[in-house]
Amino acid sequence: MKMESRAELSRPVSDEVRKTTCYMCACRCGIDVHIKGGRIRYIEGNRDHPVNKGVLCAKGSAGIMQHYAPARLRAPLKRKGPRGSGAFEEISWEEALSLASEWLGEVRRKDPKKLAFFTGRDQSQSLTGFWAQQFGTPNYAAHGGFCSVNMAAAGIMTIGGAFWEFGSPDWDRTKLFVMFGVAEDHDSNPIKIGISKLKKRGARFVSVNPVRTGYSSIADNWLGVRPGTDGLLILALVHELLKARRIDVDYLVRYSNATWLVVDAPGTAEHGLFARDADGKPLVYETVTERPVPHGTKGARAALSGRFDLGDGRFGVPAFQLLAEKYLDPKYAPEAAAEKTGIPAETMRGLAAEIGRVAFDEAIFIEQPWTDVWGEQHQGYVGRPVSFHAMRGISAHSNGFQTARALHLLQVLIGAVDCPGGFRFEPPYPKPINAHPTPHGRAEHFGSNKPLSGPHLGFPQGPEDLLIDKDGKPTRLDKAFSWDAPIAAHGLMHMVIANAHAGDPYPIDVLFLYMANMAWNSSMNTAGVIRMLEDKDPATGEYRIPKIIYSDAYASEMVAYADLVLPDTTYLERYDCISLLDRPISEPDAVQDAIRWPVVEPDRDVRGFQTVLIDLATRLKLPGFVDHRGKGLYADFADYIVRHERRPGIGPLAGFRGADGTRAGRGTANPDQLERYKANGSFFAAHIPLEAQFFKHANQAYQDFAVRLGFFDQPRPVTFQIYSEILQKFRLSAEGRREPIAPETHRPRILAAFDPLPDWYQPFEEAAVSEKEFPLHAITQRPAAMYHSWGSMNAWLRQIHTRNVLFVPGSVCDEHGLSDGDWAWVTSRHGRIKVEIARTDAVNRDTLWTWNAIGKRDGAWALDRDAPEARKGFLINHLINELLPPKGDGLRWSNSDPVTGQAAWYDLRVRIEKADPAERSEPHFAPIVMAERETPEELRYGQEWSQ
Ligand code: SF4
Repeated sequence: MKMESRAELSRPVSDEVRKTTCYMCACRCGIDVHIKGGRIRYIEGNRDHPVNKGVLCAKGSAGIMQHYAPARLRAPLKRKGPRGSGAFEEISWEEALSLASEWLGEVRRKDPKKLAFFTGRDQSQSLTGFWAQQFGTPNYAAHGGFCSVNMAAAGIMTIGGAFWEFGSPDWDRTKLFVMFGVAEDHDSNPIKIGISKLKKRGARFVSVNPVRTGYSSIADNWLGVRPGTDGLLILALVHELLKARRIDVDYLVRYSNATWLVVDAPGTAEHGLFARDADGKPLVYETVTERPVPHGTKGARAALSGRFDLGDGRFGVPAFQLLAEKYLDPKYAPEAAAEKTGIPAETMRGLAAEIGRVAFDEAIFIEQPWTDVWGEQHQGYVGRPVSFHAMRGISAHSNGFQTARALHLLQVLIGAVDCPGGFRFEPPYPKPINAHPTPHGRAEHFGSNKPLSGPHLGFPQGPEDLLIDKDGKPTRLDKAFSWDAPIAAHGLMHMVIANAHAGDPYPIDVLFLYMANMAWNSSMNTAGVIRMLEDKDPATGEYRIPKIIYSDAYASEMVAYADLVLPDTTYLERYDCISLLDRPISEPDAVQDAIRWPVVEPDRDVRGFQTVLIDLATRLKLPGFVDHRGKGLYADFADYIVRHERRPGIGPLAGFRGADGTRAGRGTANPDQLERYKANGSFFAAHIPLEAQFFKHANQAYQDFAVRLGFFDQPRPVTFQIYSEILQKFRLSAEGRREPIAPETHRPRILAAFDPLPDWYQPFEEAAVSEKEFPLHAITQRPAAMYHSWGSMNAWLRQIHTRNVLFVPGSVCDEHGLSDGDWAWVTSRHGRIKVEIARTDAVNRDTLWTWNAIGKRDGAWALDRDAPEARKGFLINHLINELLPPKGDGLRWSNSDPVTGQAAWYDLRVRIEKADPAERSEPHFAPIVMAERETPEELRYGQEWSQ
């Protein structure tokens, strides 16, 4: 590697620099924290860190004001007034932990499912999931269900990996980069660095997004698509590429299931499944010997089209033939998609032609001998230099799973997955779908004082893996992995409070939440959720959700609704582990993980949540946390990070393992491991050998590397599933041909949404409401300087965003007589809000939008009572219902994707009308008054608020 000279960018301002990992958003950049006199003076980017290479964003540098924010909680709190009042008393940790273990212990003894444990956007899910599994409740998940599970689930089910934490564009080689629905805070520094590389090389950047801000504003081409129609646009590109024969046939045959024979036997229980041999191997049709042979048979030349006699009375059709027949239909042509997407047909045709031209006419070849998993040797890597990236904008719809599948299908068709210039996997991905566990949570999986028999989350291989009882009813509180959301790989956190309040499918005793602001910006129907948290059973006078334990570092809106508050530290005061067992920070060329550590000691009576969880596990004597005598195995989270082994030799951190710290991936625990990380800038990287860097899904050297590093115990190559047999199994259940048979009420949804080939259907809310009554879309976008509500208390970041306005397209302003600074009522089927507007033309003509999570509740986050966030800021969450409009079938249908349960935030439909001028947005809620909490008159850098 060429070493570039580096300018000294900052004067020394400190006594000492401590290197750790940022947590002002989820990107996990390396930071240098300058300490002077025991206090934090300055934060800059770590120029040796592989994620950000010294780049620091506004959020990262403002970490100092996060750390000294007046909103920090100071000590454990016990509620002494009604929920929502903010009336608490400070208690000791001993009292707090005794109370929590008393509540939790009782649940575990009587009925463990009556604990619901859900966490927000934390980065310790391998610990929290393990804790919940040892506790024995089936009710655990993190925030993925209301974030971007559609991206993760569709990616893993299609190509064995997904965008962001599982893969990345090949920024150094791509010549055409197409981004769908990505807000500018997402994967923030890596994307900025990547786009700057494209700009320097003159590579083309196309952004597809209803809103033109942030990344989209510097794109070479912006396609202002109508929300919820991205899938239609992508399938129009597929149509054009197929029509022009701009597809990589050799790649499809080698790496995908395009040649696998799909049983053509309508009306039978096998129709649409793959034909298999006696060992269960999928069959292909060998064109030289003219007979079906198992996929992977050496030298076989498999057919991509035709209809073949399987020799047992059935016929088989290659998946590719079904695919071509489907997408060559004129209903997928750009002309057919133009009106719905709002994108002219010639623009779509032009983009498809450019994708085809760059992929095939500007192909890359890197000379590097490598061997595939079938033993065939190759002289180099062929690259199709077209890359894609997508996130929540396309996934937070009720059709988001199939849209994300469509995008992966497009990548596979042009041969652009894990090749030079295309999308590249980041270890430990790719993983085949059957390397993931199936979900656990049925009655036979748990019991009193017992651990759950396996992980909560995973991927059902068919309806037989659903978490339902003998009557077909959900066994999880959030109804994940039931007929409601069969492949809910990250759970449905957005349904937890509504279902617990309704006692549907059953009531709970304890709700335990971490870092999830469910009483405000993390919930749909915010006012309704607040009412549910406050609601009491008139017969008993008790809250319907009887006990709420909440852990957070700051006085967010949710704190006011807890009965017991366990105050967390800031990210600069505790150990954290960014683990390969969790959400990795690897790069396409390197396996990477990282830590955080206490660069300063807490000055309040607070403890890191992960250490508190381990303390509770010890008190509850959870298996895996205590020895056979009931003695705790781990002193705290740091001790757990070093000594816990998930499998022999595999622990939370991959680096510096073995007694002398020389082992990577596998190895015995190293007592010095955390010190080694600190000395290395708080991260570890192991580079992938050159002969293993591309085509990881089928590259023998990579597969061997993955086994050496401990990702798998044997090679697990991936065949891209452009046709999904798992989805077809659900369709057969919905047709009544496969056990368990889907209930009558769920059949139309499953038949419509579980197409084994990616498809598009109208988002559910749009289909359910009148277009005349609610003609517009309303969505949010996260700004570059604020990650959800995480910067709400940050004095520097608040100077960038103290309030939000509703951005309204010029044509809508003209129609309604609206000008900049006017106030307007925005009404949905669920409610209405009064907001200040700003005119814009950088938006899809049918779409209103605002910044996410800027509006605050009066009194929360230790903000001034007249703070603009509460006075003028607002949430569009008040307009969104967690349930779809009633269908008259007596069921409660969640406002989610029917495959994964992903919250359909962006399906919202509204109308707008001018309101009288105002000083305050509506609705406005009674202030939260946190007892004895004073806020400073003024907050300045260098004179931070000290409590
Ligand atoms: S992108 Fe910014 S906030 Fe996010 S981790 Fe990196 S420096 Fe921190």
